[in-house]
Amino acid sequence: MAGVARAIETMSSRSFCIVGANLAGGRAAEALRESGFDGRIVLIGAEPDRPYERPPLSKEYLRREMPEERVYLRPPGYYEEQRIELRLGVSATKLDATEGTVELASSGRINYEKLLIATGCEVRRLNIPGTDLGGVHYLRTRAESDELAVLLQEARRVVVVGAGFIGSEVAASARRLGKEVTILEASTVPLARALGTKMGEVCAAIHREHGVDLRLSCHVREFRGAGRIEEVVLADGSRLQCDLAVVGVGVTPAVGWLEGSGVALDNGVLVNEYCETNLPDVYAAGDVANAWNPLFGERLRAEHFDNAQNQGTAAGKVMAGGREPYTPIPYFWSDQYEHTMQYVGHASGEDGIILRGDLRNRSFTAFYVREGRVRAGFAIGRPRDIMAARRLIQAGKQVDPKLLADEQTDLRALASKGEP
Ligand SMILES: Cc1cc2nc3c(=O)[nH]c(=O)nc-3n(C[C@H](O)[C@H](O)[C@H](O)COP(=O)(O)OP(=O)(O)OC[C@H]3O[C@@H](n4cnc5c(N)ncnc54)[C@H](O)[C@@H]3O)c2cc1C
Repeated sequence: MAGVARAIETMSSRSFCIVGANLAGGRAAEALRESGFDGRIVLIGAEPDRPYERPPLSKEYLRREMPEERVYLRPPGYYEEQRIELRLGVSATKLDATEGTVELASSGRINYEKLLIATGCEVRRLNIPGTDLGGVHYLRTRAESDELAVLLQEARRVVVVGAGFIGSEVAASARRLGKEVTILEASTVPLARALGTKMGEVCAAIHREHGVDLRLSCHVREFRGAGRIEEVVLADGSRLQCDLAVVGVGVTPAVGWLEGSGVALDNGVLVNEYCETNLPDVYAAGDVANAWNPLFGERLRAEHFDNAQNQGTAAGKVMAGGREPYTPIPYFWSDQYEHTMQYVGHASGEDGIILRGDLRNRSFTAFYVREGRVRAGFAIGRPRDIMAARRLIQAGKQVDPKLLADEQTDLRALASKGEP
């Protein structure tokens, strides 16, 4: 009996620590409990909120079309019921992997037996004069979305810097609220890195159809105003009056606290397909993790909901003792105006595009193909094609481009038949 009691005591004293209390971290904690892990789970997060979903923050939540309680992953009582200790509003400042401790800002340190790094990304800030003026805004957190929602209601002329997904969604929301919107984008085509030039041009056209003044190859030099933003000065010296500027120029992995810890870093935390880092008992998942993907034969660091959720779950299962590799086919979506855009797979600039459907009616799928094999699919308003694209990517078979383009082809059947 004494032996059994000791074993239970040892088990329950195991402490698994998760740094980053949002999507990846929250799902990992859930997966630990669902996998039967009965020990102590501590979920540490710099934000004051319990885990929530960011996608609505640039869409319906920003437009005040969605109640606050719907953004959270779980109701308030869930964490207590599951004995997941939430330490919110607390930042980790240092990892000492030799000692097995994480140092917390102004509240000591915590021992871990296993540690998950799920600190996500932080916004890239512009280094130009005037960024501290009132009305110059970034968007990552729920609190920032709340502030922006108030400013948006009051604003008449909105400038969005950056035509990436966040900038594009904020612009679309601002148009829906009846604001005058200008987007300033440094590249010649928006979203070229994610979607390629041709699909980037489609996205540019969609903004313009909705009354946005989209300016490409455009660099911002300065924000000016007396305390609050009044105008944006461009590199060519021209000026643009506005009463709100939203900056969406990308994000970087939140790894500052890991410097000197010995954990291997390169564009995020390097992990294998089991979410394991180079350090024993230290794992990473979500936007912060740069993971080896055996299916594509390269490292991928995603900045998307689907990955953060699924990789968080995968990490939790591995930490609980499972041994299932995480080999995702990347997926993301973006809602802009009346369109839902979806992307599955992983393509590059060298891949050719085969179109199915009608570009002008904004109902189409673009298949990105290399050596006769589908690598990715981007669709507007065609969720079934995206499911089929996923199967085609998974199958990895050569497909006839004519069949892909033909609306009469049953893509599901094509994925199972194909040509070896
Ligand atoms: C406005 C917006 C809209 C989006 N829309 C879409 C969409 O439509 N489709 C899509 O696929 N994806 C979308 N995304 C991306 C998606 O939300 C992210 O990929 C996802 O949130 C990543 O989850 P994560 O848990 O890895 O990181 P995060 O959500 O960034 O969470 C990491 C957490 O760690 C905390 N943290 C950081 N450092 C520390 C530290 N040192 N100590 C303690 N805590 C720390 C942070 O405060 C944060 O709460 C959107 C993102 C934003 C910002």
